[in-house]
Amino acid sequence: MTALDDNISKLDGYLARFRETGIPNRIAGQDKAGSAGVFQSTSPVDKSVICDVAHGTAEDIDTAANAAHAAFAAWRDMPALERRKILINVAEGIEARAEEIALCECWDTGQAYRFMSKAALRGAENFRYFADQVVQARDGQHLQSPTLLNITTRKPIGPVGVITPWNTPFMLSTWKIAPALAAGCTVVHKPAEASPLTARLLVEIAEEAGLPPGVLNTVNGFGEGAGKALCEHPMIKAIAFVGESRTGSLITRQGADTLKRNHLELGGKNPVIVFDDADLDRALDAVIFMIYSINGERCTSSSRLLVQDTIREEFEAKLVARVNNIKVGHPLDPATEIGPLVTEEHYNKVTSYFDIAIEDGATVAAGGEKVGEKVGDEGYFVRPTLFTNANNQMRIAQEEIFGPVLTSIPFSTEDEALQIANDIDYGLTGYVWTNDLTRALRFTDKLEAGMIWVNSENVRHLPTPFGGVKASGIGRDGGDWSFEFYMEQKHIGFATGQHKITRLGAQ
Ligand code: NAD
Repeated sequence: MTALDDNISKLDGYLARFRETGIPNRIAGQDKAGSAGVFQSTSPVDKSVICDVAHGTAEDIDTAANAAHAAFAAWRDMPALERRKILINVAEGIEARAEEIALCECWDTGQAYRFMSKAALRGAENFRYFADQVVQARDGQHLQSPTLLNITTRKPIGPVGVITPWNTPFMLSTWKIAPALAAGCTVVHKPAEASPLTARLLVEIAEEAGLPPGVLNTVNGFGEGAGKALCEHPMIKAIAFVGESRTGSLITRQGADTLKRNHLELGGKNPVIVFDDADLDRALDAVIFMIYSINGERCTSSSRLLVQDTIREEFEAKLVARVNNIKVGHPLDPATEIGPLVTEEHYNKVTSYFDIAIEDGATVAAGGEKVGEKVGDEGYFVRPTLFTNANNQMRIAQEEIFGPVLTSIPFSTEDEALQIANDIDYGLTGYVWTNDLTRALRFTDKLEAGMIWVNSENVRHLPTPFGGVKASGIGRDGGDWSFEFYMEQKHIGFATGQHKITRLGAQ
């Protein structure tokens, strides 16, 4: 039996219960049918139906928001060490079911197992990290004034909504939900309609770990129905959102009447800038990894390569050879590097850029093909693609394609590189490759991005701030920044003596 056969047979076992019962909503510790019936989840690997999923609407969101509201006071007031223990139990539960999570996620999203097995464990790390912050999350400051002892304290904001996308859905859900729970908030989670499986596993694991009913509720459904209703619900105090920039605008609009606090993690068209003095072998590895891993369906992917003209030819030639060698295949095969794209709609979007690139006058140096059409596969497979001879005005340079597609743009001077890098609506990440330290300092200071790595691919460190500028988002996650979002600062001033109070109307 090959490793692929073995994984397929394990997956079959894990999916049996979903096929039998579908995925209901989970509200107040109970399974609930969706008030609009069901929709079907399909696999991008072979377009087969995985299972029925509860189709939640405003009615189900209302029930879930009430459950989160009812559970809030007890969860907020639970002693910190007890809450910490439950969150550590969740991390252990994720680790125990990491294989199941990874295999289900691959089948649901098309992501390769080599990446999803790590993403499941990253989910456990998120819970462990924020569990360890629970005790000090409410600590404040002492600010002495001549007449007052001022103290500050932080309180959880209340029930919150978490709306997540389909790319690495399990890891991203834990990234939002773990700090919310650690802060003492209760949660209504609306997972992406294209990838509902692992959100169900997460709520099951959390309840088995001791999370009280109603503290985490999951309502499946579509953005314009359940998602919109969550943003509009008066009992929901904040929305933590990860998704497209244009959806971020809708989230803001929908939350206006209830004065919602929103945290928006949005799209990106991130530059990787390679100067001719860089360690070019390491730069090449990082450039390839940051666009062709996770199917290129990753917000932090470096989808614009800015390469200095002195090394362009040699660098692109090496790139082409490596890109042509990337293994596209079944996502459950441990050797696979790129699996199918998540949905038909997304596949059509990504592949439309193959024609757009040619219309714009760029060169398709590698890929640019639907693999399925060539070899008769069923699923949404594409070849990893490289466009060269591009300029920054082309659509392939300005628009987020969100697939394994890289656009290479030459530059000659540092100023020109900076101008091209910043000439874009987005500002999530940037990657700079140079061995000139002062240039790196100068360049990163002016580069418009929320997160920048120098001589490195994206290596996350959980205490650092995560988020974007411009159309890539508002707000930061990570470390204490997550608590600033899920908590309110409160100031209390205690008089330390009999200071003079102005006596109006006293005579
Ligand atoms: P999307 O915006 O289409 O959907 C994300 C979620 O929002 C889904 O759950 C969807 O149902 C919901 N939604 C859609 N319309 C809504 C509405 N009107 N009100 C409330 N909810 C609504 O995004 P996607 O296609 O699922 O994900 C891909 C996008 O996510 C890319 O743009 C990517 O860059 C971005 N992303 C950003 C980050 C980050 O950290 N900045 C991380 C991952 C993904």
